[in-house]
Amino acid sequence: MGNLVETKPHAVLVPFPAQGHINALFKLAKLLHLRGFHITFVNTEYNHKRLLKSRGFNSLDGFNGFNFETIPDGLTPLEGNVDVTQDLPSLCQSIRKNFLRPFGELHAKLQESAIAGVTPPVTCIFSDCFMPFTIHVAGEHSLPTIIFNPCNACNFLTSLHIRTLLEKGLIPLKDESYLTNGYLDTKVDCIPGLKNFRLKDLLDLLRTTDPNDSLVEFVIEAADTFHRASAIVFNTYNELESHVMNELYSMFPSLYTIGPLSSFLNQTPKHNLESLGSNLWKEDTKCLDWLESKEPRSVVYVNFGSITVMTPHQLLEFAWGLANRKKPFLWIIRSDLVIRGSFILSSKFENEISNRGLIVDWCPQEQVLNHPSIGGFLTHCGWNSTIESICAGVPMLCWPSFADQPTNCRYIYNEWEIGMEIETNVKREEVEKLINELMVGEKGIKMRLNVMELKKKAEENTSPGGCSYMNLDKVINEILLKQY
Ligand code: UDP
Repeated sequence: MGNLVETKPHAVLVPFPAQGHINALFKLAKLLHLRGFHITFVNTEYNHKRLLKSRGFNSLDGFNGFNFETIPDGLTPLEGNVDVTQDLPSLCQSIRKNFLRPFGELHAKLQESAIAGVTPPVTCIFSDCFMPFTIHVAGEHSLPTIIFNPCNACNFLTSLHIRTLLEKGLIPLKDESYLTNGYLDTKVDCIPGLKNFRLKDLLDLLRTTDPNDSLVEFVIEAADTFHRASAIVFNTYNELESHVMNELYSMFPSLYTIGPLSSFLNQTPKHNLESLGSNLWKEDTKCLDWLESKEPRSVVYVNFGSITVMTPHQLLEFAWGLANRKKPFLWIIRSDLVIRGSFILSSKFENEISNRGLIVDWCPQEQVLNHPSIGGFLTHCGWNSTIESICAGVPMLCWPSFADQPTNCRYIYNEWEIGMEIETNVKREEVEKLINELMVGEKGIKMRLNVMELKKKAEENTSPGGCSYMNLDKVINEILLKQY
């Protein structure tokens, strides 16, 4: 092969195998490719098949220098098309036990390909912070590893202090009654950098009664590798979590904010990777045409992400809250959104919403959020959804459920004042009332102004000369290319 192949730096990117994590790292992969990197993006075999199916492709070859490789997820398939990878404890257990060897073998394959002159030699690994096996393979081959945090900084910091929470006896909870007796309101003041956070605002996996909780162990094990990384990069920008970031800067000399990656890509001139997406569900694009028929800022967009589930009762409360408001909404109902089997929305409901409400099972979320008809976002507050909403300047109504969603909700509601929270035990009257406030109320107007400010800051950060922009240059030039 020619010199071009040999002289390109080659980044291998390894996301945690869940939609939100894949999407975030995929954006970084595109940015690196646009800056001259050869890319190997590593999905699990299962997710790669889904990606091909959702895009309607037989293969994803043909994007010059942007390649895909796979490793098995080690999970046993279940009957009846059940997606086992939605079961996070099992997935995390499998990552601990099963991923190291195939990833080592994949690296050996990439080395052979480099010797044959087919691809450039691997120069670095960008690894999701919850894929700690990568650092072992990188160590064996003296490759720099850049850890990528696709979630908020607060929980990254918390994960480094879980042992302190255990030593102080804050966790595990004594028994199940501690979930409801007000104990979760306890202020967490033993983590430097965290201000005014209660136990219930942090990662939900900390609310365990099990002293040997496997998810807690998984996170501790991952956090133990952070100090071995050549650099750590975050999909955020400084202004969002400055206290936490300052604490983290004092702990890690090579830690950088490089986000929001959505805003980064939005500002990138047209490129040949635009048609390459990372959604594992097939996107329904007819909702974009439907949005065209609606007035500016008149539609509520409702989406609970890729993993959150709800009871049939909660679904009905949301449904009737939206319908009774008698204003347009676009609702994404994944086929596995409702726990325990299927649901049917009644014909009474269908008639009620007629052409005011559109329900589809997956959409191109960023295009939807950036559509001028969208006025508010009812969300589960995944980090990607949160940051994509900020980049689109859309205020939020939060219904958090697990992982880092409670923290994101607290930021949205208390710190940034760009949204409101709705109770877990959701009631239709509240849905109707809070969405009205969000869309046309005084609070909504204030929140929209605040979110527009944050959007502006996001754009400044990711434009030439902005902090995140310069940080990405730093990571590439000072850490990677110096060693290359
Ligand atoms: N997403 C999408 N279409 C949908 C639902 C989700 O494109 O109908 C994308 C969304 O833009 C985001 C990701 O899936 O990038 C979800 O990540 P997030 O962190 O918000 O939540 P999670 O799914 O991890 O709970």
